[in-house]
Amino acid sequence: MKFETLNLHTGVEVDGQTGAASVPIYQASTFHQFDWDQPPEFDYARSGNPTRQALEKIIAELEGGKAGFAFASGMAAITSVFLTLEAGSHVVACEDIYGGAFRALSQIFPRLGITTTFVDLTDLSQLEKAVRPETKAIYIETPSNPQLRVIDLKAVAQFAKEKGLLSIVDNTFMSPYLQNPHALGWDVVIHSATKFIGGHSDVVAGLVTVNSEELSQKVYQIQNGFGSILGVHDSWLVMRGIKTLSARMKQSQETAQKLAAYFDQHPLVKQVYYPGLAHHPGALLHQSQAKGPGAVLSFELESEEAVRRLVEHLRLPLFAVSLGAVESILSYPARMSHAAMPREERHARGISDGLLRLSVGLEDTDDLIADFDQALAAIAAAASTTK
Ligand SMILES: *Cc1c(COP(=O)(O)O)cnc(C)c1O
Repeated sequence: MKFETLNLHTGVEVDGQTGAASVPIYQASTFHQFDWDQPPEFDYARSGNPTRQALEKIIAELEGGKAGFAFASGMAAITSVFLTLEAGSHVVACEDIYGGAFRALSQIFPRLGITTTFVDLTDLSQLEKAVRPETKAIYIETPSNPQLRVIDLKAVAQFAKEKGLLSIVDNTFMSPYLQNPHALGWDVVIHSATKFIGGHSDVVAGLVTVNSEELSQKVYQIQNGFGSILGVHDSWLVMRGIKTLSARMKQSQETAQKLAAYFDQHPLVKQVYYPGLAHHPGALLHQSQAKGPGAVLSFELESEEAVRRLVEHLRLPLFAVSLGAVESILSYPARMSHAAMPREERHARGISDGLLRLSVGLEDTDDLIADFDQALAAIAAAASTTK
C-alpha cells in the first residue's frame, strides 16, 4: 500500500464495536474487570487506553516499526527513550539538535549519570572519534535544525549496529511520509507530533516507534513507569491530523520548493538552506534516503535590522516558534530556538543574526511569494532612503 492509502487505512480507523468512522475518545481512567480469571486488556489508562493505543498502532504502521508509543510531548518522547539507558552510559549526538533535546542531554541527564558528546555527524570520522567504551547510543536529526544539514542514515545505522549501539533518530522534520528510518536500520524513531503529524498548531504530543520486541518492552516500562503518556483527547487530535498528513506534506513541500527557488534568486537573500536545492551540500544524500526535501527551509538576510523589517512587513506567516502546521510559520532562531546560546557559539555554528527559518503551510504559493516579495522590497526601500 502507498503511504497515501496507509495513512487512512491502518486497520484501526473504524471502531470495531460500533462502526464509528473515527476512533472514539475513551474518556476513562479505569476499566471494569468482568472476569475474575481473565485479566482484561485494559485495566488502568496510564498503562493502556484504547484511544491512545489506536494512535500507537497507526504510528507503528506508518513508520514500519514493531510498536508505537504516544507521549505527552516530543520532549517526553525523547527523554523517555533516554531513560531506557543505564547510569554510566555515554551518548553521541549530532551537533545541531533541537534545543530542548540539547538542554535535556547537556543539563538534566548528566545528573543521572548519562552524558553526551555532541559532534558534527555529517562527517562520519567524527563519529568514530567520539565513541568510547561506555558509549551506548547514537542520537541524530536529519535534516537538522535550522541549517537542514543531512546525515547519512544508512551509514550511521550500520556503524551503530557494528558497535552494538542503540540508534535513535528524531524524524520530526520529515514526518513518516517522507522518511522512514527503520527501513534504513534505525532502532528508535521519534516524532514531535506537535509538528507535521498533528499539523494544526493545536496539540502538543510525542511519538516513538521501535524495531524490536525487546525495545518495545523497555520503552513500555518507561512509558508506564514514568507516566508521561498522551491524553485521550490529544491522541484523537493527532489521529485526526494523520488522516491528512500526506496531502499536507505534498502541498507544503511543493510550495517550499518554489519559495526556496524564489529566495535563492533574490538579491537581498544571502543564502538559502533547503535540501531541495541542487547547491545544498546534502541534497544528493538526502534524495537517496528520503522521498522529498520537506516543507522547512532557512534563509539568511544581511542583518538583524533586515529581519526586523521583513517581519514587520509580512502579512501571512505566523512569527512564532514551532513548525509543521497548516499555516506558514516564520521563526528567528537567534531570538527563539537558540536564544540561550552565547552569541559567539551561535555564530560559530552558522546561526547568524540574519538567519530565518520558514515552515511552509498550505497558503497559496503565489500569495506567499507575493507577501515575501513586498516585505523584501520594503527592506530595499528602507536601505535606499538611509543611504
Ligand atoms: C518541537 C521539536 C521537538 C520537541 O517536541 P515538543 O512536542 O515541543 O516537546 C523535538 N524535536 C524536534 C525536531 C522538534 O522540532
